[in-house]
Amino acid sequence: MIHTPRKRFGQNFLHDHTIIYNIISCIQAKPDEHWVEIGPGQGALTEPLLRQGLHLDIVELDRDLVMLLKEKYGKYNNLKIHSADALTFDFSALAKANEKLRIIGNLPYNISTPLMFHLLDNAGCIEDMHFMLQKEVVDRICATPGSKKYGRLSVMMQYYCATELLFEVPSESFYPVPKVMSAIVRLVPHQRPPVQIDDMVKFNKVVTQAFSQRRKTLRNSLKKLIDEYAIVALNIDPALRAEALSLNEFAKLSNQIQDTF
Ligand code: SAH
Repeated sequence: MIHTPRKRFGQNFLHDHTIIYNIISCIQAKPDEHWVEIGPGQGALTEPLLRQGLHLDIVELDRDLVMLLKEKYGKYNNLKIHSADALTFDFSALAKANEKLRIIGNLPYNISTPLMFHLLDNAGCIEDMHFMLQKEVVDRICATPGSKKYGRLSVMMQYYCATELLFEVPSESFYPVPKVMSAIVRLVPHQRPPVQIDDMVKFNKVVTQAFSQRRKTLRNSLKKLIDEYAIVALNIDPALRAEALSLNEFAKLSNQIQDTF
């Protein structure tokens, strides 16, 4: 069966065998582990995963591809195929008691950020995640304070996970060739939160507000949320900009916000 790639499903199929080999080497899959692949497409990663003897659930939105995957891999009894939208899929239902899932996917770039946050809602049942993403997004996820790429995505993702760029992937490794460079990122949910946050709503609000006007000083960008003197009392210089603040400093600021903001 010949499948024509569909743009609306973000389909860029991996065909570079060296890259596929490198991904499989990096993830160190072991038999008996429970893996979930998001957006398996035509099976570029599915097949090498299945050959490792692990338990694999795959979640694919495109029904034509689901049919093709059933034809190709239906004979494997270590595989379950889910015809579903990963953005609303209940991943926690896959994990048995005390079991942690390992997640992998060459993600459709247009849904990658909401999908990662959807997965992090169930971070408790996830061992780790390996994703192919737009390199720009991986750079933002992994950026540290002081860098131009450091922003809301860096702070939020680093609150939930240890993040690591593993390697870059050139556009020619895909068909059709995307306009952007790609990279593989490893995300490992923290066992315990790295900082104390009293209220996630407030934390979200402070981080969003601070970066929505990233050229402004904290004194100005956070004016409606926290008084300048309260910032000083936390040992944070109100003349700094958001990009200079660590995760811990954002946590301290958010814990200081009154309920009435
Ligand atoms: N893993 C394959 C395909 C990558 S392309 C490879 O590396 O070659 C992205 C895949 O995600 C496509 O198969 C696309 O149909 C699927 N997809 C797009 N949106 C999705 C969604 N919301 N839920 C699940 N799969 C989705």
